[in-house]
Amino acid sequence: MFLKKIILKNFKSFIGKNVLEFPYSLTAIVGPNGSGKSNIVDALRWALGEQKNKNIRINQGTDVIFAGNNKEPSAGFAEVELIFDNSSRIFSLDYSEVSVSRRIDKDGNSNYYLNHQACRLKDIIQLSARAKLGLLGLAIINQGAIENILRTSPLELRMMIEENIGLKELELKKDESQRKIINSINNLKEAEARDQEITPHYHSLKRQVKRWQQRKEIQQNLQSLERVYFASSLQRFLNTNQGEQKDQSSILKDVQNQINNLRQEISQEKQELQNQPQEPIDIKAITQDLFALQQKKISIEAELNRKLSPELETNLSNNELRDILDKVKERLVNLLKIQEVQELVRQIQEIIKYLTNALKPKVQKPIQKPDHQKNQRDELLKLTKAIQAKNKLLQDYQQKSREQNIYYQNKLAAIEKKRTQIEKLLEQEQSLRLNQERLRLFLEEWEQQVTKHNFSPEEIKVLAKKSHQLSLADNEFRQLESKIEHLRRVMDEIGEEDQTIIDEYHDIEERYQFLTKQINDLQVTIKDLQSLKNKLEGEIEDKFTQALNDINLSFNKYFRDMFQGGEARLERIRLTNNKITEQDDKEFAWGIVLKIKIPKVKNSHIEMLSGGEKTLVAIALMFALVHQSTPPLLVMDEIDAALDEENSRRFAETLHELSKKTQFIVITHDRLTMQSASIIYGVTADERGVSKLLSIKLEEAEDLINQNK
Ligand code: ATP
Repeated sequence: MFLKKIILKNFKSFIGKNVLEFPYSLTAIVGPNGSGKSNIVDALRWALGEQKNKNIRINQGTDVIFAGNNKEPSAGFAEVELIFDNSSRIFSLDYSEVSVSRRIDKDGNSNYYLNHQACRLKDIIQLSARAKLGLLGLAIINQGAIENILRTSPLELRMMIEENIGLKELELKKDESQRKIINSINNLKEAEARDQEITPHYHSLKRQVKRWQQRKEIQQNLQSLERVYFASSLQRFLNTNQGEQKDQSSILKDVQNQINNLRQEISQEKQELQNQPQEPIDIKAITQDLFALQQKKISIEAELNRKLSPELETNLSNNELRDILDKVKERLVNLLKIQEVQELVRQIQEIIKYLTNALKPKVQKPIQKPDHQKNQRDELLKLTKAIQAKNKLLQDYQQKSREQNIYYQNKLAAIEKKRTQIEKLLEQEQSLRLNQERLRLFLEEWEQQVTKHNFSPEEIKVLAKKSHQLSLADNEFRQLESKIEHLRRVMDEIGEEDQTIIDEYHDIEERYQFLTKQINDLQVTIKDLQSLKNKLEGEIEDKFTQALNDINLSFNKYFRDMFQGGEARLERIRLTNNKITEQDDKEFAWGIVLKIKIPKVKNSHIEMLSGGEKTLVAIALMFALVHQSTPPLLVMDEIDAALDEENSRRFAETLHELSKKTQFIVITHDRLTMQSASIIYGVTADERGVSKLLSIKLEEAEDLINQNK
């Protein structure tokens, strides 16, 4: 037997320890009213975890403890232990015997035990549901509750059938997966909302950081271009100015040397000029002497000419002579102002010429030279010779002066030529210096640029010297230049890196990756749960449909037996305004309704049946359910009370038949039912109002029943 024993301690009307053993599959419990029979059923319910006070007829938890009376003191606790045979592993526990117990003390502390180990209520509920002992099912039918099966709502009836056919566990799993789906969907929504919140910011930061990465690449590219550019620009400058630039300083030195040499030469030449020997001739004295000689000669000649040609005297008037004298005097005075020797000589000659011409007689008469004017002639001769000598002196001097002049002129021309050379060299020097300055300025600017762009000028200079590949054509150089400008502009547009933004990006990226992964995981989880749920639903649906068909076959059979015909079945209906659970909002609930047809009655339905008939329908349904699901235990409290003789007989027969697979504990007043039982317990209440248990024979049971009547 499945349920081997019920041990009651101080439970309701039972005091101390009371043990009911169930060695057979059909046990009847009999006894007078109020003796405590139903308390045994309550004990069973209570031990299996009943939570509704109404179902075990109490107001509060501690009401199950023996309350005491004027003869017996109250108990301090109540306890019920159920001992099951688990050799066929009806309970999914690896024990051949399972003890389920519950205990409550006066303070209301209620505890559950599984094999005497404290456990949770949940453990008991799960265990009994799996063993088809669930309290919603048909394991325990209270007194007067059989018709309740007809009053249950379609949804409750469906759930009852589900529990009865062992779908409870699958339903629990399905609900669990549904709950998980809803949780996961909520988490997904939350993650998606957070994802949506950060995504735009994340993408904008990502773009910015990517631009900075590009900037780094551009910078590298730019640096190699700049290196070529700087080296090339230096090379180009030096190449363009190569002639002048080549050995500039040595050329400059050379030029400066030349200038110095020429200057020295010029000063030497000047010196030479200064050092020229000066003629020791006193030109003034000579001239004066010459003049005096001329005068004397003129006067002698004049004297001679008066004596030799009186016409000469008359020829020139005194006035004319005075004029001539004045002019000569004037010219002589002028002579004193002349500095140049040559000019002086020329002027003197002019004066002599003038005098010679001016003093000639207007009409020349042949000169008759008397012999007596011989001194005077000798004197004249002497004078003429002296004049000639003086003239010769002057001519020599003139000649020398001319030569000296030529020497001077040549010297001056040579100096002049050198001066011109110096000027040219100075110009060259200036241009060289300018070039040097230009190079210096270029290099200064170049080095500034090179350093500004973080290159070492020395390194670039080495590169410029070494590399021939750098020699770019003009257009190539310009292209390089504009490419560099372009890249610099792009870099400027991108702007400098901002570490706080990069840090923020890494931070947000981590969150973004986390959320993306979370979203993916949740989507996978939801999909998995959905398919698990679908699978469970399919399984439940298959099992339910199969079970419903089986139940309907038996239901119809038991119904027809009891009503001598007619029809009965269970039908699925869709519950439009009902929802199974709040979370399960997409699923329309469906339930089960009873459809019956009583023989000879048109359009029959449950409400029109008598109380007894309702009990018959309920019993037929209960038997059908038991037949289909074969629960291990069924406890029934006086469900046969309303049956007539014939139906009592059928009831007893069916019980007997079903007890081959299901253990029955039946509280009854019916003789036929008692007869079908293998063991009968009699329950009586003693004079203290305490329930007594006794295993009795059928006759004793009948006595007890009759006693009650
Ligand atoms: P019937 O045949 O009329 O249905 P029964 O044999 O099923 O009667 P029960 O309902 O099991 O009788 O027992 C009811 C009795 O149990 C009552 O007399 C009630 O006073 C007693 N009882 C219930 N709870 C307690 C309690 N905590 N302490 C003592 N007695 C109690």
